[in-house]
Amino acid sequence: MRWNDKPYHSLDYELKKKYGEKVYKIALDAGMTCPNRDGTCGIRGCIFCSEGGSGDFAAKGTTIAMQLEQGKQYFHSKKIGTKFIAYFQSYTNTYAPVAKLEQIYREALDEPTVVGISIATRPDCLGRDVLSLLDRLNREYDDKFLWIELGLQTVHEQTAQLIRRGYPLPVFETALTQLHAISIPVIAHVILGLPGETKEMMLETCVYLAQKHISGIKLQLLHVLKNTDLAQIYEKKSFEILDFMEYIDIVISCLEVLPPDMVIHRVTGDGPRDLLIAPLWSLDKRRVLNALHQEMKRRGTWQSAVYAPKTIL
Ligand code: SF4
Repeated sequence: MRWNDKPYHSLDYELKKKYGEKVYKIALDAGMTCPNRDGTCGIRGCIFCSEGGSGDFAAKGTTIAMQLEQGKQYFHSKKIGTKFIAYFQSYTNTYAPVAKLEQIYREALDEPTVVGISIATRPDCLGRDVLSLLDRLNREYDDKFLWIELGLQTVHEQTAQLIRRGYPLPVFETALTQLHAISIPVIAHVILGLPGETKEMMLETCVYLAQKHISGIKLQLLHVLKNTDLAQIYEKKSFEILDFMEYIDIVISCLEVLPPDMVIHRVTGDGPRDLLIAPLWSLDKRRVLNALHQEMKRRGTWQSAVYAPKTIL
């Protein structure tokens, strides 16, 4: 099975199919914080999270409209980009009074060149008032989309505690049910290579998600960034970072268990060059993508090759 020339159902393929052209993401920093940092769940954050709240590429600017304008200018200067996704990336983007959330989401949705918004958040930050706002906006802006991106990272409780995720798996399941009930597509964020996780454990996370009717997934290589607790653990050599071909092999196995209609939003990751400690091979994203495509071709495999709706490892 192929999606244009790719052996997996990429976001790029999906957006070109829907809009007839490439759609670019503008990462935004809405000035949020996170319960894992403000003392509600903890103060040091997830062990891998950078000081920028995992939004190190976000545009800077005082308002969402200004950040969007700045992002558009960047793409226009490269003579590309007429349609955009406003990506609320930094920190937890549903963790604020609902009036503020409504104002920032509307600011993005009202921009004519924005085809939809993607909101990165935690499943424990989707109270009834937030869900009701999302439901209302989803109906009102029926020509645009609202996506919610949930940072799951792993289904394994032991790892979740080690990385200080700050919520147990049933909280994710409840959020998923509630978002499905109001027809908001969910994208799950998964990290591959977390300390103590084997390939089988990573596959268990993907098999679990394959059964959950989520619309998309981000497979993110674990990055060790400066000034994180993960960096301290890494420097003590208490875990091994994935090497290049090991990562390619794991990504392929993950893609094989995912359903064909699940959109693959990411298969690697862009570590900010000035913060990245390891793995440095990930800086060459093109090489990673080329190797992934070539290896899938060599193996004659594709996304969903061993997917079964009731797969149990
Ligand atoms: S929940 Fe997100 S923003 Fe908060 S510490 Fe973890 S990764 Fe960072």
